[in-house]
Amino acid sequence: MPQLINASNLHRYYADTHAVNDLSIDLQQGDILGLLGPNGAGKSSCMQMLSGTLAPSAGEIIINGFDLLEQPNEARRHIGYLPDKPPLYEELTVDEYLDYAARLRRIPKSEIHSLREQAKQRCGLGEFSRRLISNLSKGYQQRVGIAQAIIHQPKVIILDEPTVGLDPIQMQEIRKLICELGKQHGIILSTHILPEVQAVCNRVQIIYQGKSVFNSDMDQLQKNSQIRLRLKHPPELQNLQNIDSVSSVTEIEPGHYLLDGEDILQHTSEISQLCVENGWQLSEISPQRNTLEQLFMQFTSGEQGLAEGAADDF
Ligand code: ADP
Repeated sequence: MPQLINASNLHRYYADTHAVNDLSIDLQQGDILGLLGPNGAGKSSCMQMLSGTLAPSAGEIIINGFDLLEQPNEARRHIGYLPDKPPLYEELTVDEYLDYAARLRRIPKSEIHSLREQAKQRCGLGEFSRRLISNLSKGYQQRVGIAQAIIHQPKVIILDEPTVGLDPIQMQEIRKLICELGKQHGIILSTHILPEVQAVCNRVQIIYQGKSVFNSDMDQLQKNSQIRLRLKHPPELQNLQNIDSVSSVTEIEPGHYLLDGEDILQHTSEISQLCVENGWQLSEISPQRNTLEQLFMQFTSGEQGLAEGAADDF
């Protein structure tokens, strides 16, 4: 898969605040990467740097093979960016605004009409060409924000908190649109909403206090599971450890265990059968998934605890 973003060892200081601290981010064609973190984690700063609107204090950003600092024009051609506060001019119609966005992107005059129509089509704005942006709902205004980000058909789309302030239906529609766009673009989106990452992303990177604290494929995360086992007549621990599909056993208390192993959940019925055959008196066998929520809490409950706002969205 072609590498669309290769950002390494990024730092950003604001006076004494070390907002981004040695962060590295990769994005491949076909990725929808969720940057997840509590408020103040450094997500916006990171996205501004990746989009070329904020200079890093240190680090390197390569966009589709171009160095963003040394070849900014070439690199920025491949990036579409929706900031957390979309740069909309409410007194313009959708068409006027998108034409303006196209001119800012230096799209040749002869191509503006067709690219604008394509962007509108893809964002479900076909019927709103002449509507003043101020008269659109918040959800449709966000679509216009996304349309301006894709008008020049960039390889990478960077979306900063794309569903903030939307109602649940609008949120769902924008998430659907992001999934659609993900078929043709690499996407990075930031959010502090866990279900958003679960609904939309194939990769997740958790950021806390400016650092990347966790980075995984969502598929891998799903596989990160254990079996919880409660037995009324438990055997010696070794007997559980000897089960073929089990790689390790954690004893929480006598008779209560967590079993680890590759694809362990596939072996639930075989393990329960063993318990019955050996007379261990099974009282519970259940999957224990290590959810994104648990990981998020684990990695972001440092000395400051869970940052303001993040807990509200669980
Ligand atoms: P997030 O998007 O995760 O909420 P930000 O990148 O906005 O995080 O902020 C990271 C840290 O940098 C915070 O402590 C914030 O207060 C600080 N910060 C962000 N922008 C500025 C700025 N322009 N001037 C000073 N401090 C800033």
